[in-house]
Amino acid sequence: MQTIQANNYQVFFNENGYTYLNAILDVKSYSKIFIIADENTSNYCLPRLLSLLATEIEIEIIELEAGEEHKNIETCLQVWHSLTELGGDRKSIVLNLGGGVITDIGGFIACTFKRGIDFINIPTTLLAMVDASIGGKNGVELGNLKNQIGIIREPKAVIIDTQFLETLPGEQMRSGFAEMLKHGLIFDKNYWDKLKNISDLNTDDLDTLIYQSVEIKNNIVSQDLTENGIRKALNFGHTLGHAIESYFLENDEKKSLLHGEAIAVGMILESYISKEKALISSEEYHEIKYVLSDIYDAVSFNEKDIENCINLLIYDKKNEFGNVQFALLDKIGNCKINESSTNELIYSAFSDYKS
Ligand code: NAD
Ligand code: ZN
Repeated sequence: MQTIQANNYQVFFNENGYTYLNAILDVKSYSKIFIIADENTSNYCLPRLLSLLATEIEIEIIELEAGEEHKNIETCLQVWHSLTELGGDRKSIVLNLGGGVITDIGGFIACTFKRGIDFINIPTTLLAMVDASIGGKNGVELGNLKNQIGIIREPKAVIIDTQFLETLPGEQMRSGFAEMLKHGLIFDKNYWDKLKNISDLNTDDLDTLIYQSVEIKNNIVSQDLTENGIRKALNFGHTLGHAIESYFLENDEKKSLLHGEAIAVGMILESYISKEKALISSEEYHEIKYVLSDIYDAVSFNEKDIENCINLLIYDKKNEFGNVQFALLDKIGNCKINESSTNELIYSAFSDYKS
């Protein structure tokens, strides 16, 4: 598969990734390689990466506990200390080997250590391959608030090796698939039409579908790295989705939702708002609701849950001058940014979701 050119870096696929990696390690004379992994990627993915690395440079592994709850500043502190104790300097390079948690936090750590050292993302989940590892957003949560602390800086490269998906649990595959569906909904109706008919995620076409998703995300980000305009389209489903994700994360009585599971609910709710604002037809809305409900389990909300989720919207990073902003659909395959909604409309979106 051909390499995709981003603003200041490239996204390599499968064997091309390792060819690039070994070449850059050869020419850039890095002082040390730090691989940041979590306990699962250390187990399932690290052996493969190490077997394909051909370098004389010393390698140190920093292993973190797995899970969203560790994507915080305390973990950063531990890793900054480890980097220091293990002799990290400005000529060190970080390889982030993991899902979106590792690429987000590992990128943030690399961007801040010694005022910024090189890092390469090697995503190992579907979600990180098609979304989190691309586009230069790095960061951590602040308490239960998603990605409140962070920095936009692009990686040196992204290496997508789809073999890593062989050990990824099905629910994590579905979580990543939500972002692929989003890419179709906001940008490419043909892509949505292809995805909506897929019954089995182990399809032989998966490599091609991943490639197309990366193209869509990269196309959008390349035009607007700092999210002043078109990049906001990628937030479709995320205004309500993030609030729902945060609420379920902080609420001990609720089972936490995976990112894609929360975003799937957010996409149904925001499609409803799009319909009510006459941006999509009723048929389009029902198609979206049907496809997403078929893949993702229904999430139950009582009145208090809904109110709490709506209250969390004030912390959304997209808010400007205190106004909650939505990226809504404008027919399937197009998006309209900087849209508002009344709370009443949000309540009726939840009611319709529950029906
Ligand atoms: P994750 O990193 O927690 O990975 C999910 C689980 O899969 C973890 O338990 C991990 O250890 C395990 N895992 C990873 N690769 C594996 C493999 N190959 N085999 C077996 N197990 C494996 O979660 P995620 O869904 O990849 O990422 C979610 C995060 O991404 C969120 O924090 C979200 O905010 C962030 N995100 C960032 C962006 C961005 O633009 N920066 C975009 C979307 C999402
Ligand atoms: Zn997302």
